[in-house]
Amino acid sequence: MILFVHRKDLRVDDLPAWDAIRARGKQSLHVLILDPFLLKRERHLEHSGINFLQHAARLQKLYQAAGQRLHVLYGEPAAVVSGLLASHPVEELVFHEDFTPYATHRDRQLRATAEAAGVAVTAYDEQSLVDLREFQRGSGRSEPYKVFTPFYRKWSDYLLHFYRPASAVHVRELATAELHPSAAEAFALPPELAASLAASRGAEAGHAGGSTALAPDPHRVLGGFLAERLRSYADGRDRFAHEATSRLSRHVNVGAISVRAVYEALLAHPQREAWLRQLAWRDFYIYQARLDAHFFTYEKRYDLSTLDNRHFQAWCEARTGIPIIDAAMTELNTTGWMPNRLRMVTAMFLTKNLLCPFPYGEQYFRYKLSDYDNTLNRGGWLWCASLGFDAAPYFRIMNPVTQSETHDPEGTYIRRWLPELAHLPDKTIHRPQLHAIVDLKTSRTQAIDVYRGLLHSWTDA
Ligand SMILES: Cc1cc2nc3c(=O)[nH]c(=O)nc-3n(C[C@H](O)[C@H](O)[C@H](O)COP(=O)(O)OP(=O)(O)OC[C@H]3O[C@@H](n4cnc5c(N)ncnc54)[C@H](O)[C@@H]3O)c2cc1C
Repeated sequence: MILFVHRKDLRVDDLPAWDAIRARGKQSLHVLILDPFLLKRERHLEHSGINFLQHAARLQKLYQAAGQRLHVLYGEPAAVVSGLLASHPVEELVFHEDFTPYATHRDRQLRATAEAAGVAVTAYDEQSLVDLREFQRGSGRSEPYKVFTPFYRKWSDYLLHFYRPASAVHVRELATAELHPSAAEAFALPPELAASLAASRGAEAGHAGGSTALAPDPHRVLGGFLAERLRSYADGRDRFAHEATSRLSRHVNVGAISVRAVYEALLAHPQREAWLRQLAWRDFYIYQARLDAHFFTYEKRYDLSTLDNRHFQAWCEARTGIPIIDAAMTELNTTGWMPNRLRMVTAMFLTKNLLCPFPYGEQYFRYKLSDYDNTLNRGGWLWCASLGFDAAPYFRIMNPVTQSETHDPEGTYIRRWLPELAHLPDKTIHRPQLHAIVDLKTSRTQAIDVYRGLLHSWTDA
């Protein structure tokens, strides 16, 4: 028997590990482990946790519809795997790789647990569109690409010649196993999580909000975008008052649709360049997470002690007095969504104008974004804080008022999320209010000084 553990791959087709399982012709035990560490601080009630649970419920339904068995368990992953190895005749443990610090630590423990029990472990790479390990080997470089444009050129070429197609096996072609009752009992979900999953499973896809909704079908979300909005994506993506982008991230990040399925659907559309470039940014951040030894530790390499968190709470609670910032934070807090341009504007405002260390904002987004992804979120925050590969230069600080005037001249977005300002004319609605917590001009000058110094404080220690 093979033990297959689901991760950020909450779908029932195009899982490279399943090609291997079918080729071995063995029965497989499929589990999804809800890890208390990742759910701490009531994460299941925040947008990022809710998205994961909505997709977990959808996955259960997909297995059920295919007449197969998925077991959703609760516990520290190495302990759960150890319990499963003790109660089932497992010969091999199989999962898809992940590269964040927590995932790496967790997988080291899983390997040790399996190997101590004499069980083989095989991990498959599937997160990125391009096989980044092979890509780097094939580039002939000893150092990784540090700038996006040359990376993108090579990446596009690589994709044309060495694309790894989506895998063909569907869950209905596997022979999934029942769980031993002792394991079901030992790793049962806490009642609150079990009730939340059951409520989601009982709901209609896309109806109602919160933890009791069922995640929508990502293939339909993608199909709708490609048919209706791809054509105007390049011009429209920064017009944040309109829904001009795909909104696919919350589905891609939990693996409810594979990035290869996304790419293959895109190939039928001639106007794909601008959107494909965004998928390349996704691969570029995954590439950095794997090849930049400091990606997850920049805050320890630079001296951030000249910064402070005195305005952090006002930023979180949409009380800064800068209308576009407060509108964007209100949308985030209410829905779990914020358009990309406003993520950049709010993040630069927090790190530069308010001089708050970037990990504060990064952690806040971790809970609030329904499409939260450790690597992409960190990549976005590093870029805004002028740290990491190919980040924004320290003297480039987006002015929130100008950004709002440029990308939404009528102030539609501010009117939608801050109805108390809706009466203001187009010309004045973007301007800072009397109680604004900082002056944009002086705080910008100060930030340039502070970051100039900060970027000289690198230490390898
Ligand atoms: C401070 C900050 C934090 C961010 N945190 C996250 C996060 O936690 N999770 C997340 O998925 N994205 C994050 N992003 C990147 C980006 O904002 C989102 O991927 C994008 O807004 C998702 O919307 P969409 O699916 O409609 O994207 P589209 O514009 O339709 O793009 C298609 C896909 O390309 C990828 N993509 C698009 N823009 C970017 C980008 N700038 N960087 C990397 N990949 C991109 C995503 O996978 C996206 O789904 C962050 C950006 C910033 C500046």
